[in-house]
Amino acid sequence: MIRIGNHLPSSKGYLAMAKHATKLGANTFAFFTRNPRGGAAKPIREKDVADFLEYIQAHDIDRLVAHAPYTMNLCSAKPDIRQFGFQMLQDDMQRMEYTPGHYYNFHPGSHIGQGVEVGIAQIADALNQILTPQQHTIVLLETMAGKGSEVGSSFSELRAILDRVTCSEKMGVCLDTCHIWDAGYDIVQNLDGVLTEFDNIIGLNRLYAVHLNDSMNPCGSHKDRHQKLGQGHIGLDALTRVVNHPALKHLPFILETPNDDTGYAAEIALMQKLSDTL
Ligand code: FE
Ligand code: FE
Ligand code: ZN
Repeated sequence: MIRIGNHLPSSKGYLAMAKHATKLGANTFAFFTRNPRGGAAKPIREKDVADFLEYIQAHDIDRLVAHAPYTMNLCSAKPDIRQFGFQMLQDDMQRMEYTPGHYYNFHPGSHIGQGVEVGIAQIADALNQILTPQQHTIVLLETMAGKGSEVGSSFSELRAILDRVTCSEKMGVCLDTCHIWDAGYDIVQNLDGVLTEFDNIIGLNRLYAVHLNDSMNPCGSHKDRHQKLGQGHIGLDALTRVVNHPALKHLPFILETPNDDTGYAAEIALMQKLSDTL
Protein backbone atom coordinates (compact mmCIF):
# COMPACT_ATOMS: atom_id res chain seq x y z
CA MET A 1 0.00 0.00 0.00
CA ILE A 2 1.13 3.51 -0.76
CA ARG A 3 -0.11 6.51 1.19
CA ILE A 4 -2.45 8.40 -1.12
CA GLY A 5 -5.41 10.75 -0.94
CA ASN A 6 -6.75 13.94 -2.43
CA HIS A 7 -7.46 17.51 -1.48
CA LEU A 8 -10.72 17.59 0.54
CA PRO A 9 -13.16 20.40 1.36
CA SER A 10 -12.66 21.53 4.95
CA SER A 11 -15.92 23.43 5.55
CA LYS A 12 -17.51 20.67 7.68
CA GLY A 13 -14.57 20.32 10.05
CA TYR A 14 -11.80 17.83 10.76
CA LEU A 15 -13.76 14.67 11.56
CA ALA A 16 -15.91 15.11 8.45
CA MET A 17 -12.75 15.33 6.31
CA ALA A 18 -11.31 12.14 7.80
CA LYS A 19 -14.56 10.24 7.18
CA HIS A 20 -14.68 11.61 3.64
CA ALA A 21 -11.11 10.36 3.08
CA THR A 22 -12.06 6.86 4.27
CA LYS A 23 -15.06 6.84 1.93
CA LEU A 24 -12.74 7.54 -1.01
CA GLY A 25 -10.27 4.83 0.00
CA ALA A 26 -7.67 7.40 1.02
CA ASN A 27 -5.16 7.03 3.87
CA THR A 28 -3.93 10.61 3.80
CA PHE A 29 -5.39 13.88 2.48
CA ALA A 30 -4.83 17.57 1.98
CA PHE A 31 -7.02 20.47 3.04
CA PHE A 32 -7.00 24.25 3.11
CA THR A 33 -6.42 25.66 6.57
CA ARG A 34 -8.87 28.45 5.65
CA ASN A 35 -10.65 29.74 2.58
CA PRO A 36 -8.14 29.26 -0.28
CA ARG A 37 -8.64 32.92 -1.20
CA GLY A 38 -7.49 33.87 2.30
CA GLY A 39 -9.23 35.78 5.04
CA ALA A 40 -10.28 34.72 8.52
CA ALA A 41 -10.21 31.04 9.45
CA LYS A 42 -13.05 29.31 11.27
CA PRO A 43 -12.37 28.78 14.97
CA ILE A 44 -11.18 25.26 15.79
CA ARG A 45 -13.65 23.17 17.82
CA GLU A 46 -11.73 21.15 20.42
CA LYS A 47 -14.24 18.28 20.37
CA ASP A 48 -14.05 18.01 16.57
CA VAL A 49 -10.24 17.84 16.70
CA ALA A 50 -10.24 15.25 19.51
CA ASP A 51 -12.70 13.03 17.59
CA PHE A 52 -10.63 13.52 14.46
CA LEU A 53 -7.35 12.51 16.10
CA GLU A 54 -8.94 9.34 17.48
CA TYR A 55 -10.52 8.56 14.11
CA ILE A 56 -7.36 8.94 12.01
CA GLN A 57 -5.42 6.74 14.38
CA ALA A 58 -8.06 4.01 14.22
CA HIS A 59 -8.26 4.24 10.41
CA ASP A 60 -4.54 4.58 9.61
CA ILE A 61 -4.82 8.06 8.11
CA ASP A 62 -1.54 9.90 8.51
CA ARG A 63 0.87 12.55 7.27
CA LEU A 64 -1.72 15.11 6.26
CA VAL A 65 -0.54 17.86 3.97
CA ALA A 66 -2.38 21.07 4.85
CA HIS A 67 -2.24 23.76 2.16
CA ALA A 68 -1.88 27.50 2.77
CA PRO A 69 -4.25 29.87 0.93
CA TYR A 70 -3.19 30.88 -2.59
CA THR A 71 -3.34 34.52 -1.56
CA MET A 72 -0.47 34.07 0.88
CA ASN A 73 2.47 35.83 -0.77
CA LEU A 74 5.37 36.37 1.59
CA CYS A 75 7.37 38.18 -1.12
CA SER A 76 4.79 40.49 -2.64
CA ALA A 77 6.09 43.89 -3.70
CA LYS A 78 3.26 45.40 -1.62
CA PRO A 79 4.02 45.56 2.13
CA ASP A 80 0.33 45.17 3.12
CA ILE A 81 0.04 41.92 1.13
CA ARG A 82 3.27 40.63 2.68
CA GLN A 83 1.88 41.49 6.10
CA PHE A 84 -1.43 39.74 5.32
CA GLY A 85 0.52 36.60 4.36
CA PHE A 86 2.66 36.85 7.45
CA GLN A 87 -0.41 36.95 9.71
CA MET A 88 -2.00 33.97 7.93
CA LEU A 89 1.17 31.92 8.29
CA GLN A 90 1.49 32.85 11.95
CA ASP A 91 -2.14 31.96 12.65
CA ASP A 92 -1.90 28.72 10.63
CA MET A 93 1.15 27.57 12.60
CA GLN A 94 -0.91 27.94 15.79
CA ARG A 95 -3.86 26.10 14.25
CA MET A 96 -1.63 23.26 13.05
CA GLU A 97 -0.54 22.62 16.64
CA TYR A 98 -4.03 21.17 17.28
CA THR A 99 -3.06 18.35 14.89
CA PRO A 100 0.62 17.87 15.71
CA GLY A 101 3.05 15.96 13.53
CA HIS A 102 1.65 16.77 10.11
CA TYR A 103 2.77 18.93 7.18
CA TYR A 104 1.90 22.45 6.06
CA ASN A 105 2.61 23.23 2.44
CA PHE A 106 2.78 26.67 0.82
CA HIS A 107 3.64 28.29 -2.49
CA PRO A 108 6.86 30.24 -1.79
CA GLY A 109 5.40 33.30 -3.50
CA SER A 110 5.66 35.63 -6.49
CA HIS A 111 8.23 38.42 -6.32
CA ILE A 112 6.24 40.72 -8.67
CA GLY A 113 9.23 42.36 -10.29
CA GLN A 114 11.34 42.70 -7.16
CA GLY A 115 13.68 39.99 -8.44
CA VAL A 116 14.15 36.45 -7.24
CA GLU A 117 16.90 37.35 -4.74
CA VAL A 118 14.69 39.84 -2.91
CA GLY A 119 11.84 37.32 -3.01
CA ILE A 120 13.96 34.57 -1.46
CA ALA A 121 15.18 36.93 1.29
CA GLN A 122 11.63 38.08 2.14
CA ILE A 123 10.25 34.52 2.27
CA ALA A 124 13.08 33.34 4.53
CA ASP A 125 12.72 36.43 6.71
CA ALA A 126 9.03 35.70 7.35
CA LEU A 127 9.75 32.04 8.14
CA ASN A 128 12.52 33.06 10.53
CA GLN A 129 10.13 35.30 12.44
CA ILE A 130 7.40 32.66 12.75
CA LEU A 131 8.90 29.15 12.98
CA THR A 132 10.02 27.91 16.38
CA PRO A 133 12.08 24.88 17.44
CA GLN A 134 9.10 23.84 19.62
CA GLN A 135 6.52 23.54 16.85
CA HIS A 136 5.25 20.10 15.77
CA THR A 137 4.58 20.89 12.11
CA ILE A 138 7.00 20.55 9.20
CA VAL A 139 6.57 23.44 6.77
CA LEU A 140 6.98 22.50 3.12
CA LEU A 141 7.94 24.71 0.19
CA GLU A 142 6.07 23.58 -2.93
CA THR A 143 7.97 23.22 -6.20
CA MET A 144 6.39 25.71 -8.62
CA ALA A 145 5.71 25.76 -12.37
CA GLY A 146 7.38 29.13 -12.92
CA LYS A 147 4.28 31.01 -13.98
CA GLY A 148 4.78 34.80 -13.93
CA SER A 149 7.27 35.77 -11.22
CA GLU A 150 6.85 32.65 -9.07
CA VAL A 151 9.77 31.83 -6.81
CA GLY A 152 10.62 28.15 -6.42
CA SER A 153 10.43 26.74 -9.96
CA SER A 154 14.03 25.52 -9.73
CA PHE A 155 15.54 23.28 -7.09
CA SER A 156 18.28 25.86 -6.47
CA GLU A 157 15.75 28.58 -5.56
CA LEU A 158 14.15 26.27 -3.00
CA ARG A 159 17.58 25.41 -1.66
CA ALA A 160 18.39 29.12 -1.31
CA ILE A 161 15.27 29.61 0.86
CA LEU A 162 16.02 26.52 2.98
CA ASP A 163 19.61 27.72 3.50
CA ARG A 164 18.40 30.96 5.06
CA VAL A 165 15.88 29.48 7.49
CA THR A 166 17.27 28.98 10.99
CA CYS A 167 14.77 26.28 12.07
CA SER A 168 15.90 24.09 9.19
CA GLU A 169 14.69 20.89 10.88
CA LYS A 170 11.12 22.26 10.60
CA MET A 171 11.42 22.87 6.85
CA GLY A 172 11.12 20.61 3.83
CA VAL A 173 9.83 20.40 0.26
CA CYS A 174 6.63 19.14 -1.39
CA LEU A 175 7.22 18.02 -4.96
CA ASP A 176 4.32 18.68 -7.37
CA THR A 177 4.68 16.49 -10.47
CA CYS A 178 2.66 18.87 -12.69
CA HIS A 179 4.64 21.86 -11.49
CA ILE A 180 8.15 20.41 -11.94
CA TRP A 181 7.16 19.06 -15.37
CA ASP A 182 5.83 22.49 -16.36
CA ALA A 183 9.00 24.03 -14.90
CA GLY A 184 11.11 21.93 -17.30
CA TYR A 185 12.12 18.86 -15.27
CA ASP A 186 11.53 15.88 -17.57
CA ILE A 187 10.14 13.22 -15.24
CA VAL A 188 8.84 11.24 -18.23
CA GLN A 189 12.18 10.58 -19.96
CA ASN A 190 14.47 11.02 -16.98
CA LEU A 191 12.86 10.56 -13.55
CA ASP A 192 16.09 9.17 -12.08
CA GLY A 193 18.07 12.13 -13.37
CA VAL A 194 15.57 14.65 -11.97
CA LEU A 195 15.59 12.97 -8.56
CA THR A 196 19.39 12.81 -8.56
CA GLU A 197 19.44 16.53 -9.30
CA PHE A 198 16.96 17.09 -6.47
CA ASP A 199 19.19 15.06 -4.17
CA ASN A 200 22.34 16.94 -5.18
CA ILE A 201 20.80 20.40 -4.83
CA ILE A 202 18.26 20.03 -2.00
CA GLY A 203 18.70 16.52 -0.59
CA LEU A 204 16.04 13.81 -0.79
CA ASN A 205 15.95 13.81 3.03
CA ARG A 206 14.20 17.21 2.74
CA LEU A 207 11.38 15.78 0.59
CA TYR A 208 8.26 15.03 2.67
CA ALA A 209 5.32 14.88 0.25
CA VAL A 210 4.35 14.60 -3.42
CA HIS A 211 1.45 16.29 -5.22
CA LEU A 212 0.55 13.67 -7.82
CA ASN A 213 -0.92 15.40 -10.87
CA ASP A 214 -0.84 15.03 -14.62
CA SER A 215 -0.33 18.19 -16.70
CA MET A 216 -2.38 19.69 -19.52
CA ASN A 217 0.80 21.10 -21.07
CA PRO A 218 4.20 19.97 -22.34
CA CYS A 219 7.40 19.96 -20.27
CA GLY A 220 8.75 23.47 -19.72
CA SER A 221 5.47 25.24 -20.54
CA HIS A 222 5.37 27.16 -17.20
CA LYS A 223 1.56 26.96 -17.24
CA ASP A 224 0.39 25.10 -14.08
CA ARG A 225 -2.78 23.47 -15.39
CA HIS A 226 -3.41 20.14 -13.66
CA GLN A 227 -4.94 17.17 -15.50
CA LYS A 228 -6.46 13.86 -14.45
CA LEU A 229 -3.91 11.04 -14.07
CA GLY A 230 -3.16 9.48 -17.45
CA GLN A 231 -5.00 12.15 -19.46
CA GLY A 232 -2.19 14.69 -19.71
CA HIS A 233 1.33 15.08 -21.07
CA ILE A 234 2.98 13.21 -18.19
CA GLY A 235 0.91 10.06 -18.59
CA LEU A 236 0.13 7.04 -16.45
CA ASP A 237 3.39 5.16 -17.08
CA ALA A 238 5.52 8.00 -15.76
CA LEU A 239 3.19 8.59 -12.78
CA THR A 240 3.35 4.86 -11.98
CA ARG A 241 7.15 5.10 -11.93
CA VAL A 242 6.79 8.06 -9.54
CA VAL A 243 4.73 6.15 -6.95
CA ASN A 244 7.00 3.11 -7.18
CA HIS A 245 10.32 4.96 -7.11
CA PRO A 246 12.48 3.89 -4.15
CA ALA A 247 13.14 7.55 -3.29
CA LEU A 248 9.43 8.43 -3.26
CA LYS A 249 7.21 5.42 -2.53
CA HIS A 250 7.20 5.97 1.24
CA LEU A 251 5.90 9.56 0.89
CA PRO A 252 2.27 10.74 1.01
CA PHE A 253 0.86 11.28 -2.51
CA ILE A 254 -1.78 13.97 -2.78
CA LEU A 255 -4.04 14.19 -5.84
CA GLU A 256 -4.94 17.71 -7.01
CA THR A 257 -6.53 16.58 -10.24
CA PRO A 258 -9.74 18.06 -11.70
CA ASN A 259 -12.10 15.37 -10.34
CA ASP A 260 -15.26 14.76 -8.35
CA ASP A 261 -15.44 12.15 -5.56
CA THR A 262 -16.02 9.28 -8.01
CA GLY A 263 -12.97 10.33 -10.00
CA TYR A 264 -10.77 10.64 -6.92
CA ALA A 265 -11.84 7.24 -5.57
CA ALA A 266 -11.00 5.72 -8.96
CA GLU A 267 -7.57 7.41 -9.11
CA ILE A 268 -6.75 6.29 -5.55
CA ALA A 269 -7.74 2.69 -6.34
CA LEU A 270 -5.85 2.78 -9.63
CA MET A 271 -2.61 4.02 -8.11
CA GLN A 272 -2.87 1.49 -5.26
CA LYS A 273 -3.23 -1.22 -7.91
CA LEU A 274 -0.26 0.11 -9.88
CA SER A 275 1.98 0.40 -6.82
CA ASP A 276 4.12 -2.58 -6.02
CA THR A 277 4.89 -1.62 -2.43
CA LEU A 278 3.70 -4.06 0.21
FE1 FE B 1 -0.17 24.03 -4.26
FE1 FE C 1 0.37 21.30 -5.85
ZN1 ZN D 1 -0.71 23.76 -9.42
